[in-house]
Amino acid sequence: LSQRIRAAVDKLRGRGRISEADLKATLREIRMSLLEADVNFEVAKNFVNRVQEKTLGQAVLESLTPAEQILTVVYEELVQMLGGEAKQPVLKNEGNLWFMVGLQGSGKTTTTGKLAQFYKSKGRRPLLVAADTQRPAAREQLRILGEKIGVPVLEVADNERPETTRTRLQQHLTFDYRDLVIVDTAGRLQIDEALMDELAQLKHVLGPSETLLVVDSMTGQEALNVSKTFDERIGVSGLILTKLDGDARGGAALSARHVTGKPIYFAGVSEKLEGLEPFYPDRLAQRILGMGDLQTLLEKAKQAELEAPQKDLKEITLEDLITQMRQMRKMGSFTEILGMIPGMSRMLPAGFSVDEKQVNRMEAIVLSMTPKERRDPRILNASRRKRIAAGSGTSVQEVNRLIKTFEDAKQMLKTLAKQQQRGGRGLFRP
Ligand code: GDP
Ligand code: MG
Repeated sequence: LSQRIRAAVDKLRGRGRISEADLKATLREIRMSLLEADVNFEVAKNFVNRVQEKTLGQAVLESLTPAEQILTVVYEELVQMLGGEAKQPVLKNEGNLWFMVGLQGSGKTTTTGKLAQFYKSKGRRPLLVAADTQRPAAREQLRILGEKIGVPVLEVADNERPETTRTRLQQHLTFDYRDLVIVDTAGRLQIDEALMDELAQLKHVLGPSETLLVVDSMTGQEALNVSKTFDERIGVSGLILTKLDGDARGGAALSARHVTGKPIYFAGVSEKLEGLEPFYPDRLAQRILGMGDLQTLLEKAKQAELEAPQKDLKEITLEDLITQMRQMRKMGSFTEILGMIPGMSRMLPAGFSVDEKQVNRMEAIVLSMTPKERRDPRILNASRRKRIAAGSGTSVQEVNRLIKTFEDAKQMLKTLAKQQQRGGRGLFRP
């Protein structure tokens, strides 16, 4: 997945401008690579449509904005597809009971152990409950994990009624204080009506605070059907994707968030107890797109936004202009940066580029003004303009042009502000 998306985007990277045809071709490539990685068809279609809508809607093509803007949109949408903000299961001070469900072999028991280790290392006191009475070795598997981690394991007896399990659990907790109980349950190879009923019953009696569905990401699209069925029959609050280290068909699982609407809390990345990672949509998206210059780009974009005028646009002064110019100069080529400022691309004519020498002269002019003049250019009469031209080693015409440009820009910013109030979104707004 990474390689193909990266290749598609790489084709755009060298270019300053891109045409609508370029964009379409790139989006086609991205859609193909998503499908090839087994991302759900609807999700892939949706993804590409949104990237297209977002880029076209922002007048990127009319104003021919740099290709990096598309990459940023692709990244943002990828993060959205993966769930947006990273989410963790709800963890109260005490009384947490997590119910693990999933098909046989999905990694429930292993993940139960991993979670116990993860939260123990964070100062929690977990208790494991071995409720998988279907397979003879299942309880033993959990008992061994518990011993390894140093966490007690309560074993459910064969044919034990859910009410009895609840009572035994409560008894255990009265003499051994625990703030996180994780219940490992049985799974079948396929969705099985009888087992679903049993699980639903046990869940009902135990009343868990989280029901975590463990999904084997190697099972491709089937993983999505399984997730939906479990959610319908038992009710699921979050997902844990296992075997993401196996890669290849990981795309299906990556669509799980979108298809089920449930957050992905963790990813299993090895058979070992340490092989569990909180799921961060943004980090994964970065990994998929290949970092390096993407990181730099995102930082630049963020920086540009941070340093964009925060105050009321009507009050922007020449002083702001010079502050901006200096901050931007630190960041790279002026032309490149201008294109990254939200809304700026709309204001610049096609093929616009900044002569860096010109920028220096503009700066010199502003520096030759008194602070009062910078704040209110309206007081700049003929003699003041002459003084400024002399002081900055420029001509009165240049001073006039700068002031005119500034007044025009101010006017445009006002218009832009109105547009944004009506619901327009800058490319780099989250
Ligand atoms: P259960 O039947 O759902 O309880 O599944 P198990 O916990 O017994 O796991 C089934 C197999 O998957 C075992 O061999 C585990 O070692 C393996 N497994 C579980 N999670 C991961 C993972 O994240 N990565 C890898 N590579 N293997 C895993
Ligand atoms: Mg098991």
